[in-house]
Amino acid sequence: MTISRAHQTQNVDLAFRLLVAELGDRAILVTFFDPRSDSYKEILATTWKELCDQRWLEERELYGYPHYRLTGSGWMEALWRAGAGEGPELRESSGKLARASKAHVKDRREDVIVELSKLAEESGLSPSWVFNAIESNLLEILHRKRGVQWEDRGILVKIPLNFGLDLIDHTADLRAELQEAQNELEHTKQQLEEYSCPICRAPITFQDYNVPLSDQVDGFVVTYACGRCDTDGYGARPCPSDPRFPKLEEYELHFQEHPSEPTWKWSCTAVGKTLMAKQVSISHAMGQTKEEAHKRIIENYQRVADPWR
Ligand SMILES: [Zn+2]
Repeated sequence: MTISRAHQTQNVDLAFRLLVAELGDRAILVTFFDPRSDSYKEILATTWKELCDQRWLEERELYGYPHYRLTGSGWMEALWRAGAGEGPELRESSGKLARASKAHVKDRREDVIVELSKLAEESGLSPSWVFNAIESNLLEILHRKRGVQWEDRGILVKIPLNFGLDLIDHTADLRAELQEAQNELEHTKQQLEEYSCPICRAPITFQDYNVPLSDQVDGFVVTYACGRCDTDGYGARPCPSDPRFPKLEEYELHFQEHPSEPTWKWSCTAVGKTLMAKQVSISHAMGQTKEEAHKRIIENYQRVADPWR
């Protein structure tokens, strides 16, 4: 048998009216509906299924066959279908619950947990109604403000510190947070640049801004992993990636023969000719021959001229 869409919709409406009537003032958690009961003989099997698919009902096996109970969103759906969303009664009750909840977090610095029964007593509402309201998140849906949550379902209620604050568009919030994180990252990068070699970004390996240059004057020295050294005293040295870093041609190579030495008969010393070359010293080299000493001094130069990373 095919059921027309209109018939199906009417049947869902009817089911809601019957369910709400049977629920009465009870809590949705403890009220089970028996689909075999006479009251539901008009309700189609497809309707029960549809209500479960929509998560308005949940199925529980009782006495050996399926029974149903309303979910929080099912309870809301029932209220709205019954026109309670527009009526003053629902707003009045939810207002009472909101005031009782708010009183607990007023002047507090943390979330507060209260018993459901206490909240019901203070608000003058029935515990069942309070249960249904919390289970369906009524306060947030009705007022678009931060509501309460279960700490222990049906027993304890957590009232968040930001209770009653306007609900925020979280995507907008996340976007703002992301932007902030990016700004922070940019700032950190700039700071890191201040603490690294401005040419090759090698980190600082040592810094001292109170180097005594004389009795009266303090100087500074900052060294970087690339070999660069900034100082206002002696010993400054350029970064190997600096285009002004001395070329090998900026050194005068002094060869010396040591005939009495058994093995290392030649040595070579590089003496800086330019201001830059004078700042970068190259260790002297030894060789069994003059050529070998020459080769070694070039290797020594390359070691100090090698850029960081
Ligand atoms: Zn550098």
